[in-house]
Amino acid sequence: MKNNSIKTLVRENILQLQPYISFRDQNEFSSPVILDANESPFGECNRYPDSTQKKLKSRLAEFKNVLPSQIAIGNGSDELIDLIIKIFCEPKKDAILMMNPSFAMYGFYAAINENRVLKLDLDENFEIVKDNFLKVADDSSLKIFFLCSPNNPTGNSVDDIEFYLQNFNGIVVVDEAYIEFSGRKSGIELLNKYPNLIVLQTFSKAWGIAGARVGMAYASEEIISLINTVKAPYNVNVLSQELILKTLEKEGRLQENLSRILQERTWMKQHFEGIACITKVFPTDANFFLIKMENIDAVYTRMLGEEILTSRRDPAIPGCIRINVGNREENEKLINLLKSI
Ligand SMILES: *Cc1c(COP(=O)(O)O)cnc(C)c1O
Repeated sequence: MKNNSIKTLVRENILQLQPYISFRDQNEFSSPVILDANESPFGECNRYPDSTQKKLKSRLAEFKNVLPSQIAIGNGSDELIDLIIKIFCEPKKDAILMMNPSFAMYGFYAAINENRVLKLDLDENFEIVKDNFLKVADDSSLKIFFLCSPNNPTGNSVDDIEFYLQNFNGIVVVDEAYIEFSGRKSGIELLNKYPNLIVLQTFSKAWGIAGARVGMAYASEEIISLINTVKAPYNVNVLSQELILKTLEKEGRLQENLSRILQERTWMKQHFEGIACITKVFPTDANFFLIKMENIDAVYTRMLGEEILTSRRDPAIPGCIRINVGNREENEKLINLLKSI
């Protein structure tokens, strides 16, 4: 960031808000009589969740070597994307910047908030063209740059994150939904150097807990406190908070998941070679492949006929399908079918 302070980037109405924190979550009680929130005294899961997600944050803080006050937790990182746009982008006035192609949700939430979306077309290797970025970086209506690394749906990581942090006058969100598959360093290590940085991570991909809907934002205390102010107080339910805490206690769980997926990724890559309808397999740092096909219509229809679901990316990315790494049985079905075409 060149000159702005964070405050000058925040919408005026957001700066005026007081966070809603339930009295119960602000204080310590030993065995309270709980008659303050109109819950039922009976039943399982009858109480509202901890709106401050204290236990979860303290465990994650240890795990990621940050302060609990540098963590916001969302109903998936999707919710955090939505909230970040609402905090910094004035409807009908401000805009977001994103890579193209990249994760569609940035544009989706920007559209809901009536913000323009400026897309930076990636080059033939799906890299950002720095000169094109510099041409727009000073536009003061651009409040957020969403950098997706590794990028969905292209699979490659963004190099030189610091270049964008240094040359953009707004907030830089580094979406690391797939970082664990890449073996690269997380942007979290740069938090103390760049006040305009937000790093998003999630339990949905490498951790294998998409159903619980839990995502994290790591940023400066100032930004985190803004996110905590605008979020729905009970945005992460009791069952999900408990499940994530339990999972974090299982030593080695992530590593186990990860090595299985990476092993399958290697297996798939080997078997893609020599398949006639595949013209290119793009390099991947994630748990999916972007694959260029000959006769994509026919191939996709054949796969669908066998109830093999994949994600068509054409015509935005001509001839391309995104296929994620499954278990061995699923991967074998896919490979056998592709071989038969
Ligand atoms: C899957 C994905 C997410 C994760 O979203 P959740 O809401 O946490 O499940 C975020 N960003 C990108 C780029 C993704 O592909």
